Amino acid sequence: MVRAIVGANWGDEGKGKITDMMAQESDIIIRFQGGANAGHTIVNNYGKFALHTLPSGVFYDHTTSIIGNGVALNVPVLFKEIKDITGKGVPMPKILISDRAQMVMPYHVLFDQYEEERLGKASFGSTKSGIAPFYSDKYAKIGFQVQELFDEDSLKAHISRVVVQKNVLLEHLYKKPRLDEQEIFDTLMEYKEMIKPYVCDVSAYLWQAIKDGKNILLEGQLGTLKDPDHGIYPMVTSSSTLAAYGAIGAGIPPYEIKQIVTVVKAYSSAVGAGAFVSEIFGDEADELRRRGGDGGEYGATTGRPRRMGWFDCVASKYGCRLQGTTDIAFTVLDVLGYLDKIPVCVGYEIEGEVTTDFPTTTKLEKAKPVLKVLDGWKCDIRGIRKYDDLPENCRKYIEFVEEQLGFPITMVSNGPKREDIIYRTSKLSK
Ligand code: GDP
Repeated sequence: MVRAIVGANWGDEGKGKITDMMAQESDIIIRFQGGANAGHTIVNNYGKFALHTLPSGVFYDHTTSIIGNGVALNVPVLFKEIKDITGKGVPMPKILISDRAQMVMPYHVLFDQYEEERLGKASFGSTKSGIAPFYSDKYAKIGFQVQELFDEDSLKAHISRVVVQKNVLLEHLYKKPRLDEQEIFDTLMEYKEMIKPYVCDVSAYLWQAIKDGKNILLEGQLGTLKDPDHGIYPMVTSSSTLAAYGAIGAGIPPYEIKQIVTVVKAYSSAVGAGAFVSEIFGDEADELRRRGGDGGEYGATTGRPRRMGWFDCVASKYGCRLQGTTDIAFTVLDVLGYLDKIPVCVGYEIEGEVTTDFPTTTKLEKAKPVLKVLDGWKCDIRGIRKYDDLPENCRKYIEFVEEQLGFPITMVSNGPKREDIIYRTSKLSK
């Protein structure tokens, strides 16, 4: 059976923790999109880890971790991550890399930096990991697939073609040093030596695994609102963050995805620029940021403070719908235990009209939050394992959110550890 774990919002919803937890009963975990621009934070018996490229299943010895064809593969970052986890006592994970995955080239990272510099104040708030230039090249058909490393003559010819084009931009648009063909070739040969043992025809492998009845997890990065089509374009990421894309980015039939777990955080946070209707500021935001997640809401990749906001029913309902949610994992609820009153955004007011439908970007920029204030529960709910043992106001909060979203909350996460999870039967489950 294939299951997907994806985010409903701007990312950082706690997908890493849910994946790590669900990986216990899985054979294969696949990353199907994105690159080293975002990260998952995972806390387990080995310690605390920030993963950027490795799937969140690498901590078990019974799982195979796959980098799917949809991923922006940064080879040195992947190997640094492997070294980091094995250095902290995690056994060497079983890894497969799709022969159709494309590689982030050193110049992609440079172009990302140069473009943000050029845009100045109008920049996208990119993490400068080369992701946008990478995906631009992929769709402009000048990217480099892993399989090309194994035919040196055609690889050299490909490099020559690309370098001509890149050098025009470097010289005339960015006024930066030109690229050297031989240097790129040598770097790619180093990459080849590093990844050779892991390269695999992933779609064929998964086809067989599905036939053999294996449990497969697709692990998404970021969330619906960062999807290039359905998100807050252009303040989005460059690859689809939707579960449906899991079929493409892993190479499996779409009808095999039987369960879609959408991770929804009990309050909002976002990184990068773009409209964020339920955003809060000042002391209120600082306190939530400081108490948020596990040790504060700061980027796993960049360390930069995340923008904070109240729970947004409008954005989350939309986020769940576009994912094709079968189950919601409602996370980081324990963090809200300090609040007397908890505001929740239940509508957007746009030019005098209130809507609960998430609008397109131009209208979104004009939206003001309509807040409803719920009562807090004023205690620490960590350690609780049964739904009925949660304080009444906490259950009310969950049930209110569920009703607003219209999708079943079947898991409630009340702490960063694997075992901090409460399963729940929902009236909305099919
Ligand atoms: P991801 O990108 O969706 O995996 O999210 P991140 O890893 O960036 O952010 C989630 C953060 O919240 C991490 O620091 C997790 O350890 C932490 N976390 C996950 N679930 C919970 C939870 O239920 N409670 C608390 N307090 N922290 C959590």
